[in-house]
Amino acid sequence: MTDTPPFWQTRRLDEMTAEEWEALCDGCGRCCLHKLREDETNEVLYTNVACRLLDLETCRCSDYAQRRRKVPDCVQLTPEALADIDWLPPSCAYRLLAEGRPLAWWHPLVSGSPDTVHQAGISVRGRALSERRAGLLEHHIVDWPGTMPKPRRPKLRRVD
Ligand code: SF4
Ligand code: SF4
Repeated sequence: MTDTPPFWQTRRLDEMTAEEWEALCDGCGRCCLHKLREDETNEVLYTNVACRLLDLETCRCSDYAQRRRKVPDCVQLTPEALADIDWLPPSCAYRLLAEGRPLAWWHPLVSGSPDTVHQAGISVRGRALSERRAGLLEHHIVDWPGTMPKPRRPKLRRVD
């Protein structure tokens, strides 16, 4: 008997249902950090300053249903929009699949737990601050959101 492969391995992004599309988000919160763009080079500079609606503990949007009304420049990810977006973090599930790469073990769809994205150190938990108290974004430029994280595996112990 063979296991049926999961939907993200068998369907293209533009073939997924709305529910599958939403489930792809790993809840890392990295895309909700503010970014700056350098005029001369067009380079994207990441900051550790989070959108005011990001819950810094869960790393999820605190009002996802109303987010576009409350934060008009919140970008809605769609399969079509992906091609024009150059600032998604390299660990983002949408970016990984669009580039033909697999989801990592810490992705909740793979691990079966929403906690692994935090346990592996992929989410912004503990290292982002809210735009409500950040001041100038230029003072908060960091590299880590734009780099592929080296995940921490949670400590394992033997089952006796
Ligand atoms: S970076 Fe990608 S996977 Fe992470 S929260 Fe944003 S959309 Fe979801
Ligand atoms: S409104 Fe919500 S989804 Fe949009 S950037 Fe802010 S926290 Fe993220």
